[in-house]
Amino acid sequence: MKTERKEKTIKGHFSAALLDEIKERLDRQEQVILFQNRRGYSPYMSCRQCNTIPHCPNCAVSLTYHLSNHELRCHYCGHIEPPPKKCVACGSTKIETVGLGTEKIEDDLKVFFPNANVQRMDLDTTRTKNSYQQIISDFENHNIDILVGTQMVSKGLDFDNVSLVGIFDADRMLNFPDFRATERAFQIMLQVSGRAGRKEKKGKVIIQTANVEQEILGKVIRSDYEAMYLTEIEDRAYFFYPPFTRLIRLTAKHLERALSLETIQVITDKLVAKLGKARVLGPQAPLVHKIRNKYLYNVLIKIERENVDLKAVKAFIQSQIEEVLSEKKYKQVQVVVDVDPV
Ligand SMILES: [Zn+2]
Ligand SMILES: [Zn+2]
Repeated sequence: MKTERKEKTIKGHFSAALLDEIKERLDRQEQVILFQNRRGYSPYMSCRQCNTIPHCPNCAVSLTYHLSNHELRCHYCGHIEPPPKKCVACGSTKIETVGLGTEKIEDDLKVFFPNANVQRMDLDTTRTKNSYQQIISDFENHNIDILVGTQMVSKGLDFDNVSLVGIFDADRMLNFPDFRATERAFQIMLQVSGRAGRKEKKGKVIIQTANVEQEILGKVIRSDYEAMYLTEIEDRAYFFYPPFTRLIRLTAKHLERALSLETIQVITDKLVAKLGKARVLGPQAPLVHKIRNKYLYNVLIKIERENVDLKAVKAFIQSQIEEVLSEKKYKQVQVVVDVDPV
């Protein structure tokens, strides 16, 4: 993508390489699957003048733009509002949609290949009864030329006539802030790739990335699960992550930021005193630090799998939380315990 960007051959979010391959498939009456990972990725609106992004009034997240209803939605609390006509910060009317969802890909395809039948398969298009099955049989019967979708297209779909799979934005999957990001990205890229070239026809997979040197991509190309595993397991051991540990996450929630933080800090101090600093990480504000007007603070506890009585540790943590929350000052604070959070 870096090279193509320099050479200005990218159209929308499509590389010329991918567009050429799609065209070839359509000419040969073959089918194409395009994959866009949904996780951590949704389109939003932004002012072209000052880059201000509409945010949810209740949560610390930007609002997601939904093309089909032409509205902005908060995925945390359900707040809905119409797209702004003017930027709230500078008043400019030049507001654009940023980010690439399956809807945007579908839209672009209709422009690039006006004669092709394009269908989207994601949470939005499979909400009603039978719609999932309908799309599958339409694709099977070749009423659809290009299927654009999220995780849903990655599993168990075997279509003989699919000879090309395109994967958008591998880099974002790989750089998702989670210790499982590489493993997940590997798995999903491999799964999606498996949709290309069933039976006799040899298929092709195009992964769009800005950095082809990334080791993990080589492992995807070679379907080398073992090599991926060996690197990952080493990292996990080094950083003291599962499967070597169990994770327990505590989240304090309150309308007042300071009180939420103070509560989790008091609990953290008690935990550190007994479990040690190495096992207790935090407190920190999570990626989304405000939901439904409540401020969130996390502390993450890592517990070894071997030689530790997990039950006793859990009971200890619970008792510490209860002790703190029994104090009048902290009574209104909510503390949620999540074991092995995903
Ligand atoms: Zn919200
Ligand atoms: Zn503005």
